[in-house]
Amino acid sequence: MTLQVTVWNENVHEQEEPEVAERYPDGIHGAVAEALAERGFETRTATLQEPEHGLTEDVIDETDVLVWWSHCANDEVSDDVASRVVDAVHEGMGFVPLHSGKNSKPFKRLMGTTCNIKYRHGGETERVWAADPGHPIADGLPESFEIPSTEMYGEPYDIPEPDRTVFISWFEGGEVFRSGVCYRRGRGRIFAFRPGHEEYPILYQDEVQQVIANAVEWAAPTEGSDAVWGEVEPAESTE
Ligand code: ZN
Repeated sequence: MTLQVTVWNENVHEQEEPEVAERYPDGIHGAVAEALAERGFETRTATLQEPEHGLTEDVIDETDVLVWWSHCANDEVSDDVASRVVDAVHEGMGFVPLHSGKNSKPFKRLMGTTCNIKYRHGGETERVWAADPGHPIADGLPESFEIPSTEMYGEPYDIPEPDRTVFISWFEGGEVFRSGVCYRRGRGRIFAFRPGHEEYPILYQDEVQQVIANAVEWAAPTEGSDAVWGEVEPAESTE
């Protein structure tokens, strides 16, 4: 069955900065959705400006994996929509926050930590290393790849210890960062991926698109088993 992916974007830089609009004429959401569609996923997009940020109950119900790009408008996301996303993850929806999506309300709630980092603008080179080369999210990627110019993110990164750290980045200034980290919350799978700063064409880069596609595949809901919660009679006869 074709996976249904919703690509969400705050869509603010594209409206306010002509260089970003020129780089991403269909928005960052458009670029990411197109890359995923080319790789065989059924995609739709949603943005902050739409009613309920485009993430109505119907949209969430039809979403297998939610890819999320945000940066400067994380606080403008309504608490209700953030709760809807968190609840859906607990019920099995995959969640793939990109770049500053680590500061989004849903990701911070799912982590329970500040998700703070250090950062620096200025277009340094980043080398992304596959630290867990057998992980499905690393499928088809080289041992490392370079992003020629980016914003630096540095450790410490205030997240809970990940289930797996698939990628670690090195930056020209000497800092390092856990760039690709996996979690389970309830039935849902989460993969937070660092690259994607809007000042550079990073989301068109083949390796970056491959990682996002692999992450979508990995984070897709699984059937799992039934679960019964609360007080119950013994499963074994006690007579
Ligand atoms: Zn950035």
